[in-house]
Amino acid sequence: MAEYDYDLFVIGAGSGGVRAARVSAAYGAKVAIAEEHKVGGTCVIRGCVPKKLLVYGAHFAEDLKDARKFGWKLDGEPDFDWATLRDNVLSEVERINGAYTDTLNSHDVEIFHERATVSGPNEITLASGDTKTAKYILIATGAWPHVPEFPGSEHVVTSNEVFHLEELPRRVVIAGAGYIANEFAGIFNKLGSRVTLVNRSDVILRQYDHSIRDRLLQIATTKGIEFCFHAEFESIEKQDDGSLLVKVTNHEPREADLVLVATGRVPNTDGLGLDSAGVELDEDGAIKVDEYSKTNIDSIYAVGDVTNRVQLTPVAIREGHAFADTVFNGKPTTVDYDCIPSAVFSHPPLAGVGMTESEARNTLGSIKVYQSDFRAMKNVLAERNERALYKMITDADTDRIVGLHMIGPDAPEILQAAAVAVKAGLSKSDFDNVVALHPTMAEELVLLR
Ligand code: NDP
Repeated sequence: MAEYDYDLFVIGAGSGGVRAARVSAAYGAKVAIAEEHKVGGTCVIRGCVPKKLLVYGAHFAEDLKDARKFGWKLDGEPDFDWATLRDNVLSEVERINGAYTDTLNSHDVEIFHERATVSGPNEITLASGDTKTAKYILIATGAWPHVPEFPGSEHVVTSNEVFHLEELPRRVVIAGAGYIANEFAGIFNKLGSRVTLVNRSDVILRQYDHSIRDRLLQIATTKGIEFCFHAEFESIEKQDDGSLLVKVTNHEPREADLVLVATGRVPNTDGLGLDSAGVELDEDGAIKVDEYSKTNIDSIYAVGDVTNRVQLTPVAIREGHAFADTVFNGKPTTVDYDCIPSAVFSHPPLAGVGMTESEARNTLGSIKVYQSDFRAMKNVLAERNERALYKMITDADTDRIVGLHMIGPDAPEILQAAAVAVKAGLSKSDFDNVVALHPTMAEELVLLR
């Protein structure tokens, strides 16, 4: 008789958990996974994937307008139907949910479609009351939207609900000025809603380079998105006509049909029973782990947003894979957190890798900054007065590129390729040595002065 029911029991079938389960099973481990919602987790079900599809959908508003400048005759004003976009996006989510489930099934990973909690260092209790034992437990329960407390906060939605709206709201107030706030501001603005973004400070996308942030703020304002800074939520009142009266500090009250709160995500550790196994959490409720994702309990590991290291899907996937390599393939593997590229799918999108200008200045002292501030060819013909900005930061002593930041059409697509060079430690002269690929936007990268 085996000592445990499973070699590995994973709690949470999101990006990190699914990768860990699949790869561990491929290494020969007997694996089970529990998921109380849908297989796929935040990214697939209520995050990156449906969001990106909405971004595509919203972008047609500009494309259809610009098409006329390129000779296309479109009779009358284009008509947009929210329900069609929403339902097509949700059915694509269902398809991917099925694909993830198939992957787990084909690797003989047993799936429990119910909530699971930890009830000991090697024991899991399922919502049905059954208990299971495992040599190792992996917590991959992700994070959950944080909603500040104020009177009327029950009237808000978060990124969990926003993909399911019955109707496209006419007026949207968004709380926060980070990733989700700026991405949905762009989506709703393009789809025709009046958007107001409310933030406690006057900084949007704090972790990005200031020039890129400033450019987004300027373009978004020009597109009609309103920004209320130094504003904290005071109250939301539901009015007789169903609309919401939103009161924030330092600004006039405003009416809205939807209030979306995007003020960060907190590690999903509440009620997981981690105390019963003695698993240590940090002051934000995140599970504390070492460089191999191991908690203070030898049999319990954690990966992804629940550890609050870097809240990005590809990082969770790497952590899940490294866990499987370490524990089930005898190959201790850590994740390299240096030079992780990231992007915001705002309108237009922005992306960055490495240090911002101020980080580089503070860390290295002597730096050089190269910029290209240009209007994409397509925007020129379309008479769209929207400029892209590319910015490269180098160590002045070595010429090595330490940061690359951009905003403009397809910036995330371009930056992903360029990030390989930055991560590899290439210098500005390596970029200069490459002949430009003309006419592209990306050629600006090898023509920076
Ligand atoms: P972010 O951390 O990006 O931004 C949070 C925003 O909310 C900031 O503007 C912050 O203000 C404000 N804020 C934070 N706490 C409070 C509070 N207690 N009260 C009022 N305002 C507050 O969070 P998001 O919710 O937008 O996204 C969560 C995470 O999801 C991101 O960190 C990111 O890792 C991930 N994500 C990634 C995406 C991508 O890769 N494209 C897309 C969407 C999400 P201030 O800065 O002024 O302090």
